[in-house]
Amino acid sequence: MLDLLIKRATLIDGTVLDVGVRDKQIVALAKEIEEDAKETLVLDEDVFLSAGWIDDHVHCFEKMNLYYDYPDQIGVEKGVTTVIDAGTTGAENIHEFYELAQQSKTNVYALVNISKWGIVEQDELADLSKIKENLVRQALLELPDFIVGIKARMSKTVIGENGITPLELAKKIQADNQHLPLMVHIGSAPPELEEILAIMESGDVLTHCFNGKVNGILDQTTDKIKAFVWEAYRKGIVFDIGHGTDSFNFQVAEIALKEGMKATSISTDIYIKNRMNGPVYDMATTLEKLFVVGYSWAEILEKITVIPAKNFGLSHKGKIDVGYDADFTLFKLVDKEKELTDSNGNTRVTTQQIQPVKTIIGGNIYDN
Ligand SMILES: [Zn+2]
Repeated sequence: MLDLLIKRATLIDGTVLDVGVRDKQIVALAKEIEEDAKETLVLDEDVFLSAGWIDDHVHCFEKMNLYYDYPDQIGVEKGVTTVIDAGTTGAENIHEFYELAQQSKTNVYALVNISKWGIVEQDELADLSKIKENLVRQALLELPDFIVGIKARMSKTVIGENGITPLELAKKIQADNQHLPLMVHIGSAPPELEEILAIMESGDVLTHCFNGKVNGILDQTTDKIKAFVWEAYRKGIVFDIGHGTDSFNFQVAEIALKEGMKATSISTDIYIKNRMNGPVYDMATTLEKLFVVGYSWAEILEKITVIPAKNFGLSHKGKIDVGYDADFTLFKLVDKEKELTDSNGNTRVTTQQIQPVKTIIGGNIYDN
């Protein structure tokens, strides 16, 4: 007896399949499954099924005063089954976040900020005494199933006079702890992007990759991607969108694509303000922006499922396959124009929208 049988699920490549779920996992996958199920969901032809959407850069510890939100309001209610909070908390407040996060329907993971209280103030890396490797290590040991990596924000307002030093400390913490995933936020200099990329290694995640700042990937005098950025991209540094209030620019994304450079993963950097007032709103809107830039839906979906799962070691997530978690997003592609706005007020009009209709987490179905 299955817990859930999904009939006639259309994947983005056009394949139509039945999917069987038991004990929160995918247990069967076939053209036609005849087994009995406690619950059966028969999908309409215009509904697509993908692995559950993963947003690898959000802020959802509701007790923070600056960057906060509620996991289910950015997760399950928006078609997102799994969120990774990107360093809102540090070693000294991540336990409180963990306790709260367990109450949400959405799967919540976290990157621990190398600064011990996370983003309580904007300048969490301006005082190096807040970076305590032993505290980070202890948090990693205490919450091994919650913390999936570390976060360092490397931009002017965050680091004060400390230059590249916080990133060097982050790399040391990473090296001392099984080379866990590291996400680095970029913005205005100092430090210079070139210094940051010189220290980052293959597999490290650069978030806010298509920001429109002078210290971004685009040389604004020639309108070409900087040579050292191409080098970093080719060496395997992960380029993550991290849209945010301030960090996604259409022109940068378009020029990169024209030169043959695509974001590796897509994420929102959502929190309550940019969710309610824009320009982020939700994951679907962020995806529409990459679609209008020229990415196909199939590659967009990879960048919010299999790729972030791999980058952050979520080995049971990101794929529709036997043995994987029963997390799915059901959505429609609707031919309807919509004006989209980036972080710098530039607009584009998409001719197609992506609209989540149901979110399934651990086999439980939620309507959108
Ligand atoms: Zn962020």
